[in-house]
Amino acid sequence: MAYQTTNPYTNEVVKTYADATPEYIEESLAQAQALYQQWRNDPVATRIPVLRKLAQIFKDETDSLARVLTVDMGKLFVEAQGEVILCADIAEYYADHAEELLKPRAIETIAGEAQLENHPLGVLMAVEPWNFPYYQMMRIFAPNFAVGDPIVFKHAAITPASALAFEDAVRRAGAPAGALTNLFLSYDQVSQVVADKRVQGVALTGSERGGVAVAEVAGRYLKKNTMELGGTDAFIVAHDANMEDVKAIAPRARLYNAGQVCTSSKRFIVTENHYDEFLAALKAAFSAVKMGDPMDPSTTLAPMNSKKAKEHLQAQVDEALAGGATAYYVHEPIDSDGQFFMPTILTDITPDNPAYGKEMFGPVAQVYKVKDDAEAVALANDSDYGLGGIIFAGSAEYGAQLASQIETGMVFVNTFFSSLPELEFGGVKKSGFGRELGQTGISSFVNQELVVKRDRPNDNEFGGLVLPHKF
Ligand code: NAP
Repeated sequence: MAYQTTNPYTNEVVKTYADATPEYIEESLAQAQALYQQWRNDPVATRIPVLRKLAQIFKDETDSLARVLTVDMGKLFVEAQGEVILCADIAEYYADHAEELLKPRAIETIAGEAQLENHPLGVLMAVEPWNFPYYQMMRIFAPNFAVGDPIVFKHAAITPASALAFEDAVRRAGAPAGALTNLFLSYDQVSQVVADKRVQGVALTGSERGGVAVAEVAGRYLKKNTMELGGTDAFIVAHDANMEDVKAIAPRARLYNAGQVCTSSKRFIVTENHYDEFLAALKAAFSAVKMGDPMDPSTTLAPMNSKKAKEHLQAQVDEALAGGATAYYVHEPIDSDGQFFMPTILTDITPDNPAYGKEMFGPVAQVYKVKDDAEAVALANDSDYGLGGIIFAGSAEYGAQLASQIETGMVFVNTFFSSLPELEFGGVKKSGFGRELGQTGISSFVNQELVVKRDRPNDNEFGGLVLPHKF
């Protein structure tokens, strides 16, 4: 039984859950498929009240929902509260905008009166990670619920309580049976569900490793899929950056959620005129963190999600140091059995270092010195990943010019990276493909059905693929 909550602050095993039985999986898929058949005929508007109620539940029950996250994976309670509020915002946004986003699009054509209609695609399989257990679910649930795609999902093995709490909130919001079903699946069972003929789409958020495994099965069975994977996001400090702003944002961009964010800034690329000042400021910020009980509002750095994750990150840091990197700063050890990772700053990482280009998923900053902005862009692009990024430059316009040169899915200039319901989220290269949220996100799993109509056949030749002969 892989699904288990172990509080990473106390190491207490809170609860263990049984895997889904084959019978329950079959029942869930049948129910989801029946709902899809019904939803095909129901307009988007019929589903909107559920999203509104769901938003209200997340607002009314912020603290109790947030506590589940903190116990499951250790994040600061205040960060968990923020995640719950963001979920309410996402549900509300799609309640407000889904009908507009999904309305048919008229196409001007000589063929007749044409429009692209957005119909549901069918049952979706979602595979989600532990780092934002509700937000990741809401990102896929709210838009696709509006579309009319029922979802079965597998959440991370370490956040089963969050999975159940999310499913329960959706049920209490009035969603019909089959709209969203949590399944505690093994990897083999995930493959079986993806292969099932009732499943028409697959959405995974997670690591490259998980993405490759699930995309492979989705490809084998020709299931449309979106892959939201990892990143080694660059934080570029351009030659004319405002260093007060840089110093305020850089530590947060690395330490938020204990550094366990796909879009955390993982590579700080700093022009040489700012390098020493940047390092000193980052060190001051990293040494000022307060590790402790994530429920305590004075704690500023949470434990990592699990012992395994902490050990993995330590192995990566050890490998980087053995490969010639310098530990510019390591926070002094603290007296706690919680899964805390001491904030660390690594410098002198050369391209032949095993750490170069690797995603470090925790409070470890890699800092690189470059001679100018062009070199910063080149280094940012020298990565197999391309998810997000932050640029600090002397003006928004100049920063945006640099941003356009970065091979990545999302860049924020002179500000903190944030995910909002109206903003497309996703990456390129090994960070995956497809987008969640925004106009593109809500269109990921729709059947864009082209309907061309006219009262009588068109007698005139209008080109295209038509048989030229008349019989
Ligand atoms: P992970 O190991 O890939 O896990 C993510 C999900 O995939 C979990 O539910 C996991 O189940 C499942 N999974 C993994 N291998 C699988 C397989 N072979 N078959 C079926 N399911 C499989 O990712 P993680 O390490 O927990 O999460 C952190 C990663 O996610 C980081 O790389 C981070 O950058 C990325 N991430 C990306 C985004 C984005 O939007 N681009 C957002 C958040 C996180 P188990 O838990 O049971 O292993």
